Amino acid sequence: MDTCIFCKIRDKEIPKEFTYEDEDIMVFPDINPKKPIHLLIVPKEHIVEFAKLTDDVLLSKIRKIIQQMITTSKLSDAGYQVTVNGGGLQDIDHLHFHLKGPWLEREV
Ligand code: AMP
Ligand code: ZN
Repeated sequence: MDTCIFCKIRDKEIPKEFTYEDEDIMVFPDINPKKPIHLLIVPKEHIVEFAKLTDDVLLSKIRKIIQQMITTSKLSDAGYQVTVNGGGLQDIDHLHFHLKGPWLEREV
């Protein structure tokens, strides 16, 4: 946990501009975005991965924040993905959800 990059971001040891923050959750852009909008929604508590998440209240808060980010990022009808990597597929062992988009082509 001492070396966890997301804990360091939470503790302001690594400077990061947050898109959203409250007492339980932080949201910031992925450093290596795969889409024009690529946000990471991260609980402040060091939960190693999705399979270890047991707190339904926290999960509900995360859901609400992701839905809020979908709206404020104008992704509601633009195609988006919400993903979580686990079971060793993840690079960072601190639970986080990816919100990526847009995926749909739009005529102007
Ligand atoms: P995952 O494979 O799901 O663990 O994804 C980890 C994500 O964290 C990757 O998409 C990285 O680009 C991203 N990432 C790593 N370090 C940072 C950082 N300092 N700030 C923002 N995003 C980061
Ligand atoms: Zn951590």
